Amino acid sequence: MIKQNVQSILRQLPDDVLLVAAAKTKSADEIQEAIDAGVGIIGENYLQEAKSAQKLIKGSAKWHFIGHLQRNKVKKAVELFDMIQTVDSRQIAEAIDEASFKQNKVMPVLVEVNSGQEAQKFGVLPDKTGDFIKSVAHLEHIQVMGLMTMGPDTDNSDESRKYFRRTKQIFDQIKALKLNRVKMQYLSMGMTSSYQVAIEEGANMVRIGSKIFGQRDLN
Ligand SMILES: *Cc1c(COP(=O)(O)O)cnc(C)c1O
Repeated sequence: MIKQNVQSILRQLPDDVLLVAAAKTKSADEIQEAIDAGVGIIGENYLQEAKSAQKLIKGSAKWHFIGHLQRNKVKKAVELFDMIQTVDSRQIAEAIDEASFKQNKVMPVLVEVNSGQEAQKFGVLPDKTGDFIKSVAHLEHIQVMGLMTMGPDTDNSDESRKYFRRTKQIFDQIKALKLNRVKMQYLSMGMTSSYQVAIEEGANMVRIGSKIFGQRDLN
């Protein structure tokens, strides 16, 4: 099933939209199957899961961190991932910069936007995103490559649309500033229930879990 799911999604996606397979709770075998079917980027929320899976997996997939990152886990995250999509504080940006410097890397990052302005969600508020990026752009061992957003939890994709639209607006505004060292290249938004709408609203990276791997076990 994973193979067919990936292939049908890849057939649907416009050429300029990247697929991230959101693999939380899935086994290395399942992730391998997705890679073999054509997935180029694996999204992981948990470091330990990513580490165990990476040991077993063959092929040249890229690994993106899409979970919430705590400061004490930054060093590990920089070791394991090719991009961190969830930068939402100066403290985390600085910690990633420092760890990347020590590991002789420049880490591509996306800034997570709390597009629904929800108290319980992580991310930079929409109106603060420009100033936030200006405040971290100088860090030489990270490179801001765009924005990521979740949006409020809903199965109603039209409800999601306004949050995606707002995030795209911010993306375009920041891009127009042509900030030094900032490359506004990726707009990561949309999941299983909302990726079509996200693409209509300008996403060029979608993070899809259950439509690839099936329902996650709740525990
Ligand atoms: C789990 C997850 C997804 C994918 O969710 P689905 O609804 O299963 O497609 C996307 N983004 C993030 C950050 C996630 O944690």
